[in-house]
Amino acid sequence: MKLITNQLIIALLFSICYGCVSVNKVAFKIPVDTRSNNIQLQDRKTFFIDDLGVYASNQFDGARLNDFQKINDSTVQVIVNPENQPINKSAYYAFKVWSEKERLLYLKFQYPKGHKHRYQPKLYKDNKWELIDTVNVYKQDSIVTVKVQIEKKPLTIAAQEIQSSTDVKNWYTALIKGKEAYVHFKNFGKSALGRDLPVLDIYKGNKKEKPIIVLLTRQHPPEVTGYFAFQEFLKAILNESSLSHDFLNKYRVLAFPIMNPDGVDLGHWRHNAQGIDLNRDWSVYRQPEIRQAVKYITKQIKKDKTKIILGLDFHSTYEDVFYTNKIREKTTMPQFIESWFTALEANIPDYNVNESSANSTRPVSKGWFLYGHDAVGITYEIGDATPRERIKEIGKTSAVQMMKILNNYKPNSINYD
Ligand SMILES: [Zn+2]
Repeated sequence: MKLITNQLIIALLFSICYGCVSVNKVAFKIPVDTRSNNIQLQDRKTFFIDDLGVYASNQFDGARLNDFQKINDSTVQVIVNPENQPINKSAYYAFKVWSEKERLLYLKFQYPKGHKHRYQPKLYKDNKWELIDTVNVYKQDSIVTVKVQIEKKPLTIAAQEIQSSTDVKNWYTALIKGKEAYVHFKNFGKSALGRDLPVLDIYKGNKKEKPIIVLLTRQHPPEVTGYFAFQEFLKAILNESSLSHDFLNKYRVLAFPIMNPDGVDLGHWRHNAQGIDLNRDWSVYRQPEIRQAVKYITKQIKKDKTKIILGLDFHSTYEDVFYTNKIREKTTMPQFIESWFTALEANIPDYNVNESSANSTRPVSKGWFLYGHDAVGITYEIGDATPRERIKEIGKTSAVQMMKILNNYKPNSINYD
């Protein structure tokens, strides 16, 4: 109890007014300065190495290639820089490469000092992504060289599968087609560079007083494996089973499929177009993406006299892991995490939940759900290299088991005080 009391000291709420919506700011133990920083834009162009007859391009959404230089007759230097620094170590790259004549080419990656190769390189071939065979990936210390066969037709090479803001839009547009009666699509705002910020507001029947589950993803642009889990999670909620029908009659889901569209399309390693890690801005909301999301969520809660009970924020890291809050008793569903994790282990073959529990000290969404809403907040992390079919299984089963658990919660067993 003493621990909880100590933690609550940092959970002071103070209110500010955006337009007509009064929004609570949430104080954290370790504040983070999220005032905008300059970023270095890539020079969007086609690079050409004359005497090798080799081209490369970064002229597409999600691309990241800062320079492309000849080393010798068989090898080129692929220079990749982040949008600004300091930044966490997620060296993301994506570019197209081709040649006048069919040939072999060695691509030697170069990142700024202190940044290592993180992502297993992938190729986009025959309309699908595949890992570059490890026999063609050479590592010497932290320097990585990749051997590829190239030709006239451009070959896309990327750190992770490219999922641009257009790809995300195409995905959710197809997903919600024919479900307009209960999936309400809206752009809740604009990013710093004017890209749409979409939300899917999902419920059946009357939305008044329905407890809310918030789903977030792509605050961090390269974290597409978390996005893949988000996709499967949402698909399961919208699969029109009787489980999903009962769930959506009882609960409401606010799903945010792309929180940082500028960063995604600019090929950023982590930040938004104003050089800020959005998942450190859940305190005073200096960045437009977070400010407008918080305003939108707050408005729904007030208008429909309800509250958030659960927030899941989908990310990627080196391994599958759920980051949870230690504080449970004061949340709306003190037993949820334990029940959910038990159900995941019982329903996903050969699966052990990897949980890492700590109360958020910095302004991340997980802490915002807890301190700002007494809701269960979880950062749902998928490994960078988790097999894609496995992600589908985990994403789907985690949604199904969440719905089962929530469907069995008696309304009066949700602690609203
Ligand atoms: Zn992340």
